This record gives sequence, structure tokens and C-alpha cells, in this order.
Amino acid sequence: MDFNLSEEQLAFQYAARDFASGEMAPHAAQWDEDKIFPVETLRAAGALGFMGMYCDSNSGGLGLSRMDASIVLEELAAACSSTAAYISIHNMCAWMLTKWGADSLKAEWAEPLTSGNKLASYCLTEPGAGSDAGNLRTSAKRDGDSYIIDGAKAFISGAGATDLLVVMARTGSAEQGAAGISAFAIPSNTPGVAFGKNEVKMGWNSQPTRAISFDSVRIPQGYLLGEEGEGFKIAMQGLDGGRINIASCSIGAAQATINHAQAYMHERVQFGKPLAEFQALQFKLADMVTELVAARQMVRLAAFKIDSNDPEKSTYCAMAKRFATDVGFEVCNQAMQLHGGYGYLREYPIERFFRDVRVHQILEGTNEVMRVITSRRVLAEGGTDAIR
Ligand SMILES: Cc1cc2nc3c(=O)[nH]c(=O)nc-3n(C[C@H](O)[C@H](O)[C@H](O)COP(=O)(O)OP(=O)(O)OC[C@H]3O[C@@H](n4cnc5c(N)ncnc54)[C@H](O)[C@@H]3O)c2cc1C
Repeated sequence: MDFNLSEEQLAFQYAARDFASGEMAPHAAQWDEDKIFPVETLRAAGALGFMGMYCDSNSGGLGLSRMDASIVLEELAAACSSTAAYISIHNMCAWMLTKWGADSLKAEWAEPLTSGNKLASYCLTEPGAGSDAGNLRTSAKRDGDSYIIDGAKAFISGAGATDLLVVMARTGSAEQGAAGISAFAIPSNTPGVAFGKNEVKMGWNSQPTRAISFDSVRIPQGYLLGEEGEGFKIAMQGLDGGRINIASCSIGAAQATINHAQAYMHERVQFGKPLAEFQALQFKLADMVTELVAARQMVRLAAFKIDSNDPEKSTYCAMAKRFATDVGFEVCNQAMQLHGGYGYLREYPIERFFRDVRVHQILEGTNEVMRVITSRRVLAEGGTDAIR
């Protein structure tokens, strides 16, 4: 693993930074305040390839590695972590469709998704199945050459404003658990699909979050992703990358708050000198930067594990997601502290980053579930040799 970014990676980093500072940062506060889902900006991101970053080029994607995608998402999140997080979810869905979709499905959806002209949502969570996702109840029953979908999903990012739903539903029996789950692509305008109200949230306000109900929703058999019974595996492979993505968004947000805090420490004068001259605050900043660098390297290590198809990649993704989202939140929290009362005001961007990254510790598998995944592997035979 090379710790230096290649010329190509630096070029993507600069392109993302340029786009983020020009097209996202100036609007992020308003998107948050007015709960605007910035569809035109998402399309503009798509024009640069950022909506299908690790989809292959035959599907219209950029064919980037997960490490490259992580670098891009960090930059986008430093401008608006909520919008970057939606972009990360869309990338996960686009990848799932292009990897497991039948040729006819890809012919219809791959290019629209990778270009950002059509948007997607990832639908796993249900009212009764959050962390215990393998216990989901939404059903998909075969009827001739169709499936009929019935059930409900909760907390779906982008729902109501996106065009395609990647839905995990049960084709087998409840007793089969995760092995009875299949994955489907369901166009949002299919009769029988209905959306709940936009949830009122602490952060992530630039993207809607809604419940979805499926009432006798008929879709062609060709909308199945992979084979029947493979849906949970597909969902979890999507989430390995999703966890790297969301961790990258935490790092980007935390980096932005460090940048703001550094400038503020030089500018703000108390007791006759700038905050930057108080050693207690210098040490706080030193710890924030140290932990953030460690988190970034861990995320890049996990991305490398996916890129090299390492058998332990899921455990590394879980560890990196847990660590980077915890560090990201704490760095934003400490950056607020360094700003004193001003950090708490909407006038400064710190409190928005703080609100936006908090949920990264909860979704795409809570950080407790990340510990379940990690400890299960370490406690298994050979675990301490495999994970080190
Ligand atoms: C803003 C937002 C956007 C979201 N977007 C999406 C989306 O796009 N698609 C989607 O499918 N889902 C989405 N989610 C759902 C998210 O993934 C779930 O909220 C999350 O997985 C936790 O499920 P839960 O809320 O049901 O909590 P629960 O599973 O009920 O957990 C409650 C608490 O118990 C802990 N816990 C549960 N089981 C264990 C255990 N075995 N050991 C230790 N602790 C445990 C949890 O960590 C948590 O602290 C979103 C959620 C939010 C808030």
C-alpha cells in the first residue's frame, strides 16, 4: 500500500475540491436551513463522474478504486457532508445495480444512474428490523414472470425524490433468515409504492428521509439483482463500500472543522493574545489532527482491502467505519469547543458539520454492530492472526 497519492489521485482530489468549493460550499447552509435536496448539483456531480465512481466504464462509471472514491468523498463532505453522504449512498446503489443487474436492467438504468440523471435509494431498514436486518419482513412472491412486493421500509435516504429503489425483500421463509432474502431494483413510480412524510431530523437536511410502503407492487422478474437468496450478501457487499464512503464523509467534515478552527485560533483574541497562543488549545488541536490522520489511514487501509479483495475486507471496513465516524464526530465537537459560543451559532458552519456527522455513528450499521462484526471475527479461530 502506497501512502502517497498518485498523480491521478491528486487530480481527482483537486477536481473534487474545486467542485465542492464552487458548487457545494456556498449553498450548504441554505440547503440545510431550507431542507433543499440539490438535484441540479447532484447532476453536475454526475457530469464529473462522481455519481458512479466505482462502477465499471462499460456501465458509464469512472472505474475508480474504493480508495480513489474515498478521496473524492472526503473533499465533497468538507463542503456539505449531508449532500456528500447522499452521493455516497447513490454510488453504493449504482454499483449494486451495475454489478448484479441483468443486462436488460443495466441497459435501462446503468447510464442514467452513473451519470446522475436518475437517482437511487438503498432500502434495507424496516420499522421492526434495523440492526437485525436479516430478520426483515417485506416479501417478494413469484407470480408468473413477475414478483409481487408487499411490506414497508423505514428511514430511506432520498426516498420520494429518487427514481430507483434498491430493495431487499424476502423470497424465502422467515425461518431461512438472511438466506431467504433477495435484492430488487424497483422504479419509484411503480403502482403500489407510497412514501411517508419527510422526517424532521437533527441533520442530513439536504436529503429527504422517508418511510416507504409497498402494496402489491408488481415488477418484472428481470428486476431481481443476482439470484434469489443472494440479496443479503449483495446488501452487505454494498455496505462494505458504503461504510468506507460514510467514514470518508466523516473525515472530510472533520477536516473542514479543523481548517475553520485553525483560522479562528489565529483570529480570536482573549486575555490579550490569540487563542493559538494558549498551550491547552494548541494541544487540543494537536490531538484532533493526530486522531484524524489515524482515522484517514485506517479508512484507506480498509478501502485497499476491498480493492485487493482481501478475505478480511468486511472486518476492516467495520473497524474503519466505527473508528472514523467516532473520531469524525469528536473532532467536530472539539472544533465547536475551540470556537466558544460562536461555534454554537448557525452563523458559523461548525454546528452544521456537528449535526450532520452524528448520524454516521448510527446508520449503515450502528457502531455497536461494527463492534459485533469485529469481535466475532477476532474471537473466531485464527482471528488474532487475521486481524492485526
Ligand atoms: C438519517 C438516517 C438515514 C438513514 N438512511 C437509511 C437508508 O438510506 N437505507 C436504509 O436501509 N436504512 C437507513 N437508515 C437506517 C439505519 O441504518 C438504522 O437506523 C440503523 O441500522 C439502526 O437501526 P435502528 O434505528 O432500528 O436501531 P436498533 O437496531 O433498534 O438499535 C437500537 C440500539 O441498540 C443497539 N443494538 C442493536 N442490536 C445490538 C446488538 N446485537 N449488540 C449491541 N447493540 C445493539 C444499536 O446499536 C442501537 O444503539 C437511516 C437512518 C437514519 C437515522
